[in-house]
Amino acid sequence: MRLTVHNHRRRAADVKRAIIDLPSDAEGMFIEPDVVTPEIAVVLAHNLERSVNHVAYADEFTGGTYDPIGRYNCGRCNQEERSDCLLLDINGINEQAGSCRDWEPERTGDPEMRLKRKSPDAASYGVAKNGVGFGCHRCPFVRTAKNVDSQGRSSWCGENGHYVTPTACCELNGAPTV
Ligand code: SF4
Ligand code: SF4
Repeated sequence: MRLTVHNHRRRAADVKRAIIDLPSDAEGMFIEPDVVTPEIAVVLAHNLERSVNHVAYADEFTGGTYDPIGRYNCGRCNQEERSDCLLLDINGINEQAGSCRDWEPERTGDPEMRLKRKSPDAASYGVAKNGVGFGCHRCPFVRTAKNVDSQGRSSWCGENGHYVTPTACCELNGAPTV
């Protein structure tokens, strides 16, 4: 893999940072490197961190919002209450196949507040056409990987440019919705 690195000077502060262009295929999917050198591993680890912070990526190693069975469906979310959502400004959710970027696991005794504030669009709420839910293992952007990262992620995400686990997910998942 050849990385293209641009250096830009920010306007507001005299700070430089690199902008990296990962190679992509004809479908626009980032291409997994054949060999993960230490330099490339740093770039991929940063891509994963970016996904956690910007597109709600979650897996076994990233903490709170991970679903071990990889469905991320509303009916198994701590914000679900009587087929409605405590967080979103929405009238009812689909328990089996609805989900959003704010999915969180049910935890006994974990209190939630009746907010009803966040818009469904801001939360990327959607109902999966498959009637089951989401997850990298159902995502059209996941690819069989040649490599495994140092934490054991053994699939490649062509959309975000880093390794993933089958039961991980992010809000950019390409699952068709109704
Ligand atoms: S809409 Fe989001 S936050 Fe609300 S119950 Fe569904 S997954 Fe949870
Ligand atoms: S494979 Fe799909 S769901 Fe998984 S991180 Fe990539 S875009 Fe998101």
